Amino acid sequence: MNLHEYQGKDVFRAGGIPVPPGEVARTVEEAETFAARLGFPVVIKAQVLIGGRGKAGGVKVVKNGQEFTREAGRILGMDIRGHAVRKILITPAMEIEKEFYAGIVLDRKYETPLLMVSPAGGVDIEDVARQTPEKILRLHLDGRGLPVYRARAAARFLDPRPKVQKQLANVISRLADIYYSQDCSLAEINPLVVTPSGEVWALDAKVVIDDNALDRHADLADMRDLGAEDPGEVEARERGLSYVRLDGSIGCVVNGAGLAMATMDLIQFHGGKPANFLDIGGSSNPDKVTAAMNILTRDQRVRAVLFNIFGGITRCDDVARGLLAALDRIGTKLPIVIRLTGTNEKEARELLSARGMTALSDMDEAVRSVIARAAEAA
Ligand code: GDP
Ligand code: MN
Repeated sequence: MNLHEYQGKDVFRAGGIPVPPGEVARTVEEAETFAARLGFPVVIKAQVLIGGRGKAGGVKVVKNGQEFTREAGRILGMDIRGHAVRKILITPAMEIEKEFYAGIVLDRKYETPLLMVSPAGGVDIEDVARQTPEKILRLHLDGRGLPVYRARAAARFLDPRPKVQKQLANVISRLADIYYSQDCSLAEINPLVVTPSGEVWALDAKVVIDDNALDRHADLADMRDLGAEDPGEVEARERGLSYVRLDGSIGCVVNGAGLAMATMDLIQFHGGKPANFLDIGGSSNPDKVTAAMNILTRDQRVRAVLFNIFGGITRCDDVARGLLAALDRIGTKLPIVIRLTGTNEKEARELLSARGMTALSDMDEAVRSVIARAAEAA
């Protein structure tokens, strides 16, 4: 689960990281009262669940009331890469001398958390990693946390001044404590700044909590903002589907994670791009198929849909029934390619052919066919 910046900052504050005060507004009027209370200059920041808001124009330092009203209205009307801005954070503008990066992320390859710090903060860390990798210090952590001496080493990498290093080491230690105690898969501060008077402040917060740990964190689970999340992901979670949004145009409905991955691979192999990974699981529940179709037909990027079902515990006829029920309800014009094989395959084919649909049994053929249909529809 991704937290908004203001929520992440609350978590940071509670964990002892210095964060400037701030208030969240949903309307310009509400925002104006907060700004009046804080005094100018202030920063207006779009609260959406994606990064790169600065580059998109969703972060703005303003110096007076007139400019504030204009910019607050503009940002509240923005759409940042498909995310409508419904909330803005109003926070005092800090004077910045230097911008650093500090983040802890789960490194899946090494199966440990990875601390990364960089004196080149304020920009995408991915860009720094590509262009000037020597400007990133990486420290793999173990299950027990971050020893103080390593936090100090990280701080020395960022700034030569002992007084600043002390504050940075403190922030990095606290960030690690938060990462472990809140079951994060990411806890990131970018930028972590030093002011001209030598004070250290966290000006941004990106926190991702491991969904599987939310039972342990009722306070964090309550922060979930359904309205700001991808509607497909919200529906999939509610219906018990495993769904991952990808960049392509081919919607996939598959049973079982292994088959899902094989399907993604085969689509890529034949030059197509999957729009998602959607696993209806090993059950025989037509409602799940209907939910899957709902998610895919709402997604504007999807040009064609592939059903790839290997019947075992999942019965092919149940999937066919779910698909037909979904089509009755939503009546999509999207091309649908069906490949099924295994349990109750014969019954499934009969159900489909009664409605003028045919199912393939060869996976390779089905994948090539859906790529062609998506290309025609593009
Ligand atoms: P992001 O682009 O979504 O990561 O949003 P950030 O919160 O990181 O803001 C983007 C940039 O805006 C930062 O790197 C800073 O340069 C600038 N910024 C954010 N807060 C302040 C502030 O309080 N004062 C000043 N002067 N600049 C700020
Ligand atoms: Mn940032």
